[in-house]
Amino acid sequence: MKNIITKIHLAIAALIFAASMPFAAAAAAQTDFGQWVAGFRQTALAAGISAKVFDRAFQGVDAPDPQVLQKAAFQPEFVDPTWNYFDNRINASIIRLGRKNAAKWAGWLTKIEKRFGVDRNILLAIWSMETGYGEIMKRDDVMRDAIRSLATLAYADPKRARYARTQLLAALKILQSGDIDRAHLRGSWAGALGHTQFIPSSYLAYAVDIDGDGKRDIWDSVPDALASAANLLAKNGWQPGLRWGYEVILPPGGKKLPAGRLSFRQWRNLGLKSATGGRRPPDAEAELKLLDGRNGPAFLVTRNFFALKRYNNSDRYALAVGLLADAIGGRPGLKQDWQRPFTPTNSDEKAEIQQRLKDLGLYDGAIDGKIGSGTRTAIAAFQKQHALEPTGYPSKDILQLLRQNR
Ligand code: CA
Repeated sequence: MKNIITKIHLAIAALIFAASMPFAAAAAAQTDFGQWVAGFRQTALAAGISAKVFDRAFQGVDAPDPQVLQKAAFQPEFVDPTWNYFDNRINASIIRLGRKNAAKWAGWLTKIEKRFGVDRNILLAIWSMETGYGEIMKRDDVMRDAIRSLATLAYADPKRARYARTQLLAALKILQSGDIDRAHLRGSWAGALGHTQFIPSSYLAYAVDIDGDGKRDIWDSVPDALASAANLLAKNGWQPGLRWGYEVILPPGGKKLPAGRLSFRQWRNLGLKSATGGRRPPDAEAELKLLDGRNGPAFLVTRNFFALKRYNNSDRYALAVGLLADAIGGRPGLKQDWQRPFTPTNSDEKAEIQQRLKDLGLYDGAIDGKIGSGTRTAIAAFQKQHALEPTGYPSKDILQLLRQNR
């Protein structure tokens, strides 16, 4: 009896010891993950992946990526207000960089336009939205090993497991095709690949080798990446020569307007006027989009707007691509600004707000004039210190107060 109790005590002590040891816990998780990989290997082989490709793909992938799980679990603290979403994606420095890249890649863009019928500025805008014209590709904290990311989500994120298993199989097919070697198969935490952030199944469906080296390389070949984006749009209903849409001025009086698709002629008859001039194709169909209520800017969007949504299923995304493309191409900006809850600051002033918050020890992010949740949290903390409502907005008033606060 005594012997048994001692044994139980020892067992409990061992359990407590194991639980307090992160290495032991990690080893257990590793074993479970290893079992999961072994199970998935059967699925992959049954789906036509060779054992050699699978085993090389998973060489060194022996534990989930904790950073991927952290990003998958992230819940944004603020709903990004419309003005902030567009300010961060369409501003002077982004437009300047777009024009620089338009000049740098002009020859290839001409070829791509000819072959796929997609406007070059649309492709530059997608490239900017996806990876900041490739800048984000250089960041190891953003671009991770795609096999490990997808295996992590398939193994440990029940919400995304189905998506991740499908995409992991597609990623293995990419490796099997030989278009990219194992080490270069990198992507976002969710497995979006290369300059234009294709998920693996989109890569298989739409990636193109336009530079002619025999590989569809959206990681190291900008022409391949931009041509692949153009191909995706062309295969999803993009109509050459048609704009994504137009800003319009609504008729006065708050008249109720139809929700469906009408021709530009019908919209004109309902009293909608072009905001920036320019001829609209009278017979093309368009839908009215008010992303910021009736007091924000209004847009009539064409089928090409919906082709952009096939890239990323969000009205904001498609509109930002369209507006940024227009800005890179030198078209006039919005006639009606977004609704702002304060007097807006420009990006230099926003950077100054960040610097001053940093000097006060309230902010430790980048001084880049982009207002994300880090800056807004810091502004809210500063507002609380001054008994103000913690809105987190980078207003002129906040800048004034920060300047007085030396
Ligand atoms: Ca190529």
